[in-house]
Amino acid sequence: MDLSYILNELGEERELYFNAIAPPIIQTSNFKFNTVDEMRQRFKNEFGGYIYSRGINPTVDILRKKLAALDGAEDALVFNSGASAIFSSVVPFVSKGDHIISVKDPYTWAQKLFNELLPRFDVQTTYVDGKDIHNFSAAIRPDTRIIYLESPNSWDFAIQDFEGISRLAKEKDILTIVDNSYCSPYYQKPIQFGIDLVLQSATKYIAGHSDTVAGVLSGKKALIEKIFNLEYLTAGNGIQPFNAWLLIRGLRTLPARLDRISKTTREIISFLKNHPKVERIIFPLDINFPQFELAQKQMTGSCGLFSFVVKTDEARKLETFCNSLKHILLAVSWGGYESLIIPKLAGMELNAFDADNEMHRLVRMYVGLEEADYLIQDLNQALNQL
Ligand SMILES: *Cc1c(COP(=O)(O)O)cnc(C)c1O
Repeated sequence: MDLSYILNELGEERELYFNAIAPPIIQTSNFKFNTVDEMRQRFKNEFGGYIYSRGINPTVDILRKKLAALDGAEDALVFNSGASAIFSSVVPFVSKGDHIISVKDPYTWAQKLFNELLPRFDVQTTYVDGKDIHNFSAAIRPDTRIIYLESPNSWDFAIQDFEGISRLAKEKDILTIVDNSYCSPYYQKPIQFGIDLVLQSATKYIAGHSDTVAGVLSGKKALIEKIFNLEYLTAGNGIQPFNAWLLIRGLRTLPARLDRISKTTREIISFLKNHPKVERIIFPLDINFPQFELAQKQMTGSCGLFSFVVKTDEARKLETFCNSLKHILLAVSWGGYESLIIPKLAGMELNAFDADNEMHRLVRMYVGLEEADYLIQDLNQALNQL
């Protein structure tokens, strides 16, 4: 299916709403029936139509069709956050006594789910270094139900081999899930490599304007329907129509934004690589990245987010660098129009800083839609404070 068709037309039935170009926000909680029999039939299959907007809603439906097609999936559900999508990908597939294998250091709230919430229900998680596929085969137990991946990781960009891992999982009837927030489906489609469920924080590249929080989960229709019928309706964590409309709007410019950001990111990286205060860059499509070959196999591009190690022996100097930035903002998240920075140091006590530990000198940068020179000048004046 053509990308332009997905973004501009798929799921839209303009004749149903006055031929308006922009789809309407169907801001309704409930839908009426003409007869009791019609109502009875719908009650038997809520997934198939409209009853109540905690379930299926027409504005959300337009978005679901587009997002599923982008992922190359049969169907998708859209949630009120990426964290909800993580929760709703895992919980439906585990019961008391089950085991999960997760790549190490996944997104913070995936870790909370695995470390704190699921153990209360006697579901245990083993973390493995995902760079070597043998670590997954060695961790498989008879009660393993899920292999959970995040590739690339959003701090160190470590990558997992989708094809190898999904082959291994299929042999043992284990479900594979991947957090694809870093690439978005524009740059990576894990389902093509055999992964069962793919999720992303739509807060990032899909929404693209730092004005809403949302998540997507895609896969085979049978899996999506199973999640919908119990966990989705029970948790009531689906996206609201207005936020779905913001995501449809965001999708219109996804390729334009990501192409631009990718180009600017390359320029920023080549500036930083040549700066005497920068030790090294960590970016999955950099020729020096240790998993560069696998990155090239699985990803058709990479944008916005990368890390770099600053040369300094003092935490205070590193802080001065961050505090001196005039246009690049100190904030969490990424994927919007504005460039951002976050030092690892912000999550540590100052007295724990060890200059010999490269990770303590790590800064994560997100490149937004600004002009490259505008960002380079800002970085340059702040690095010169070091
Ligand atoms: C932001 C993010 C999430 C969580 O998404 P929210 O929309 O913030 O709930 C999950 N995974 C990754 C890699 C993220 O960057």
